[in-house]
Amino acid sequence: MTLSFDPSTVAVPQGHHIGGRYIALPGEEIAVLRPSDLQLMGTITDGGDAAVQQAVDAAKAALKQSNWGRIVPRERAAILMRFATLIEENATYLGQLEALGSSRLVSGTITGDAVRTAGVVRFYAEYCDKVEGIVTATQADTLSILKHEPYGIVGAIVPWNFPMITAAWKFAPALAAGNAIVMKTSELTPHSLLALAELATQAGVPAGLFNVVNGYGHTTGAAIVRHPDIMMISFTGSTQTGAAIMSLAAQSGIKPVTLELGGKSPQLVLADAGDLSVVAARVSAAFMANAGQVCTAGSRLIVEDTIADELIERIIGITKAIKAGPTWDETTTFAPIISRKQLDRIDGMVRQTIVEGASVITGGAALESRNEGSFYAPTVLENVSDDNIGFKDEFFGPVLTVRTFSDLEEGLQLAAHPVYGLAASIHTTDMKKALKAADTIEAGMIWVNQHGRGPEFTYQAGGYKGSGFGKDMGRAGIEAYLRQKAIWVNYA
Ligand code: NAD
Repeated sequence: MTLSFDPSTVAVPQGHHIGGRYIALPGEEIAVLRPSDLQLMGTITDGGDAAVQQAVDAAKAALKQSNWGRIVPRERAAILMRFATLIEENATYLGQLEALGSSRLVSGTITGDAVRTAGVVRFYAEYCDKVEGIVTATQADTLSILKHEPYGIVGAIVPWNFPMITAAWKFAPALAAGNAIVMKTSELTPHSLLALAELATQAGVPAGLFNVVNGYGHTTGAAIVRHPDIMMISFTGSTQTGAAIMSLAAQSGIKPVTLELGGKSPQLVLADAGDLSVVAARVSAAFMANAGQVCTAGSRLIVEDTIADELIERIIGITKAIKAGPTWDETTTFAPIISRKQLDRIDGMVRQTIVEGASVITGGAALESRNEGSFYAPTVLENVSDDNIGFKDEFFGPVLTVRTFSDLEEGLQLAAHPVYGLAASIHTTDMKKALKAADTIEAGMIWVNQHGRGPEFTYQAGGYKGSGFGKDMGRAGIEAYLRQKAIWVNYA
């Protein structure tokens, strides 16, 4: 059976999803374009303060009526399990919607993104009755208990690069922990999250617990951050926006913020990495998957000089073998850039990198199909020094910079970044060197002989330094949505 589909056959959700239903609210209209061909997919309105207020009112009423945070935990789990099953049953529709509106390819959205989204919901459903407190050591006749409690209403803001999955990393643990959520995805990719909220309602998640508002970041996003009844904020996006959100949260009351931000992740390849055709495939996938629009993209190749020429040659071969095309064609292997604006930003940054001394090994321009969509050629750059913009800033596109080294110490120094610390990979068959590198590199996620997360939901995501703090997924992913209460009982 083919996964390819006709884009005109996919129903596009309309409105905000508040209080368990789609509702239209006044606001500036935002046209949502399909990145593959820049045709109109649908329009949303910028909800702003009014939509957020309505969502908060719905969340408050739902928490009161359903007592969600205090029902038998297995009941909460059962509802979320039904939600996961409904996502799986609707995987084709969700996968098509995701492929239509984002840079994700249909070859991966139905069997990958949608199924993984269901998996994330199921993973956290299983946590509902496994959140445990502690009884701490005390003197006689006293009892000291630490227990976890939900916040009440939490807010979440996510970007456009994996719209369903990054959203699920937040709404699933937030709901499993007993909270209501008000969330917003990017104005560039609003539709799949709306469809997920509708499925949650169908599964029996009490109406008003899972609200999705549409709009721009500086209006609707900021309204979520500022709202006094939203008790914590979980954000994924750029480092710059993360800083703005921290500041906004601090100005509008004290509330915790978790930040999953950008990266500039190195791929450190040692001469003993093994079969270079395998390593080249791995390194290429790490900067070309989703056209480099991945927070953990391996955008900096740091390779031992004795194998550099051969490895680069092989990578160039792989960059030539791509098939750029519509996201709804299952034979497409290379994704579009999310918007023309983002494409121009990547291109402008590549030009500036060259002005500052870099040279292009391959790529360095938009692909010819530019008029039908926003495609940028896989690009490899060399001579990118530490003061070059190509080292300092995130491209968030299919761009790889190359540096070489002659011993491990030098390689580790090159792998360091002054701002970012999201992820890093080390490719070597020498586990002593791998572990030394893993110890040395300042990043929240380290991979040995692969680049990118494995399939396990227990593996937590999150960065060091300018790549943020707080974690998604794993046990830490649900603890983020719980606060701790210390109870002291004197029974002398
Ligand atoms: P962005 O920061 O521009 O926007 C992210 C979200 O924040 C969007 O929904 C946007 O509307 C909203 N927003 C923007 N300004 C806001 C404001 N002032 N107040 C409240 N909300 C605001 O990021 P993007 O361009 O959508 O996504 C790409 C970025 O996301 C990259 O930097 C990438 O590395 C990062 N990212 C990080 C992770 C991670 O897990 N660390 C995962 C995916 C993407």
